[in-house]
Amino acid sequence: MTEENKPAYDRVLTGGTVIDPASGTEGRLDVAISGGTVAAIGEGLAAGAAEVTDCTGRWVLPGLVEGHTHIFQHVSKVGAPADEAHLRRGVVAAADAGTAGASTFAAFRRLVVEPSPMRITNFLNVSVLGLIDFRFGELLNPDTLVPDDALETAAANPDVVRGFKIRLSEDVVGDNWRMLLKKSIDVAEQAGLPLMVHIGETSEPLPAVLEHLRAGDVVAHCYTGKPHGILDGDAIQPAVAEARERGVLFDSAHGKSNLSFEVARRAIARGFYPDVLSSDTSARNWRGPVFDLLTSMAKLVALGMPLTEAVTRATVRPARLLGLDTEGYGRLEPGGPAHVTVVEETAETVLPDAAGNTITAPRLEPVLVLHKGEPVETVPWRGL
Ligand SMILES: [Zn+2]
Repeated sequence: MTEENKPAYDRVLTGGTVIDPASGTEGRLDVAISGGTVAAIGEGLAAGAAEVTDCTGRWVLPGLVEGHTHIFQHVSKVGAPADEAHLRRGVVAAADAGTAGASTFAAFRRLVVEPSPMRITNFLNVSVLGLIDFRFGELLNPDTLVPDDALETAAANPDVVRGFKIRLSEDVVGDNWRMLLKKSIDVAEQAGLPLMVHIGETSEPLPAVLEHLRAGDVVAHCYTGKPHGILDGDAIQPAVAEARERGVLFDSAHGKSNLSFEVARRAIARGFYPDVLSSDTSARNWRGPVFDLLTSMAKLVALGMPLTEAVTRATVRPARLLGLDTEGYGRLEPGGPAHVTVVEETAETVLPDAAGNTITAPRLEPVLVLHKGEPVETVPWRGL
């Protein structure tokens, strides 16, 4: 083949609707890929393609970014398999939320971060133990919060540790939540990183927690149906609105027990969307009720959140929070890595929340996942 008729692009995705919230691009456009990189986005690119993939009737999204999951498999009882639960379901980058602590971090790095083709980061548990077993709260012995260990681990692993995590449920912190939260914020402050705070079953109402949080800190499980959530009746609590106003972030983090359709429906009706839309996948929920990130997105879309808003919160927003935007994650732009998730709406399916309530809605199914331009073998939805 001569230089002149050599195809300009390895692959062109044609006919799909591109949604790239980072650039504000939305419309029926072709995406051309060459050498693992997005070469061009525009109209009529198929002529120059070695391979054309018809995406008519589908959405062409940036590879998804999971802002909150548990993937420390084989060490933690809650760890789901990283690639199986995420990459093969359209996620190219993920943050483990506190499954590893300083004493187990080296294993997390060796067993999870290094072998995976995904870009994996974490929120390091402030307890050196991390979340090894849900039956035994990692901070019931408050001495397991060792600031120097957390800080040393973060400083030695800046490519992975992008924040800290504390779970404030009563069965994790006992009576010590305030002291432990303050210590955790000190650690996060010293490291210059955000703190993610798990709510749901805290011993005091949410405003008592929020008053400690800084801009950039993250409240996980904002749509929890457990006591001390974000709502007061039908309304968003003033302290929640005020916290958002000053930059505290909210993460939906579905999880086994922290998505209430009723809370989500009311909050969405008031325009209260999470900053990060995450699944909080774990070994306890990846075969249901959570399944995966796309299913978590489909549920919130069914409850009234526009699809573009859901995509924003599962791509560019978590990418920014995790500092992965600078590596080209969470966006589709010429010159950037070709991480692409092509999604199709399915027939209506019965979908459960964490309390066993159901809605009937279409799911979002990854029909093609490209990681650095290469197709990834996808797996069927685990609810089938
Ligand atoms: Zn979690």
